[in-house]
Amino acid sequence: MKESICLGIESTAHTFGIGIITDRSKVLANVSDSFKTVKGGLIPHELGVHHDEVKDKVLKNALEKAKIKLNDINLVSFSQGPGIAPALIVGLRFAKYISKKINVPVVGVNHCVAHLEIGKLLTKSKDPVLLYASGANTQIIAYESGKYRIFGETLDQGIGNFIDSFARYIGMGFPGGPKIEKLALKGKNYVELPYVVKGMDVSFSGILTNLKVKYDSKKYRIEDLCHSLQETVFAMLVEVAERAMAHTGKKELLLGGGVACNKRLQEMCNIMCKERKAKLFVPENQFLVDNGVNIAWLGILMGKIAKRNHKGIDIKPYERTDDIKVMWK
Ligand code: AMP
Ligand code: MG
Repeated sequence: MKESICLGIESTAHTFGIGIITDRSKVLANVSDSFKTVKGGLIPHELGVHHDEVKDKVLKNALEKAKIKLNDINLVSFSQGPGIAPALIVGLRFAKYISKKINVPVVGVNHCVAHLEIGKLLTKSKDPVLLYASGANTQIIAYESGKYRIFGETLDQGIGNFIDSFARYIGMGFPGGPKIEKLALKGKNYVELPYVVKGMDVSFSGILTNLKVKYDSKKYRIEDLCHSLQETVFAMLVEVAERAMAHTGKKELLLGGGVACNKRLQEMCNIMCKERKAKLFVPENQFLVDNGVNIAWLGILMGKIAKRNHKGIDIKPYERTDDIKVMWK
């Protein structure tokens, strides 16, 4: 049988990405263009404008990379949520446009579930607990009885947004995570911060306020504050992830999301896994951050419900991981 090719469109937040993958799990292209700033953060309307401006170029580059023509595509998928509406709409419209143009079906997929499925595919983990630490999302997810259940999550902002907010406060642009990681490497002294784990959930907004007050007081080295930020919030994530592993009896931890690119977070997860004789799986950075391949692969898995007539196909900015029935397992 001829292999089937899916084109996936990611546009939930800062990144407009197109990934192309075959149903035999061969990645043909992964091309993105991300919104960045020198100063200041993400403004929803500006994301939509950015994605609209770059979409044709990203598509052209992706097809060139994959060495295929648009007509070789058999299925289109796009991330329908969760995400920022003005950004999501660009992906929805582009997916419908391409699907009409080449007369192939289209399917909307959940962004968080896509992170989990691409991680499983690329690392060959079987039944992991996913620590999904991204810009807007922070969730501990694992499969149980037909759905990917959320065992713990942030009660306010995502960990990436929290880190980016602090970076913005001290005058850095978006994304702030890699810059904070660099500064943290030069930190020597741990400065005590609130440690906020409530049951299985975490919260960052109080820690952000505390960090701002400490920064304004000029009593602390910025490197020490960045080091303490990482040590504190990463420990919170590792604690909750470990408890989810103990509760479910699962022996695999999978990382996902842009914050999971952080080497110190990876190291802390590795220590925890070693201590409990579990295995840590970390996909390459290009698949940790938002990208189209994640979306394309979940498109392949969910291809059966794709539609040519676009009926009911829409964005779902507030869709939750456990809204999705996992019918492809
Ligand atoms: P995502 O939304 O999954 O694409 O992830 C984007 C988020 O990851 C942003 O908040 C970035 O600041 C953050 N990020 C990227 N690289 C790092 C890093 N090395 N350390 C911490 N955060 C990071
Ligand atoms: Mg993401």
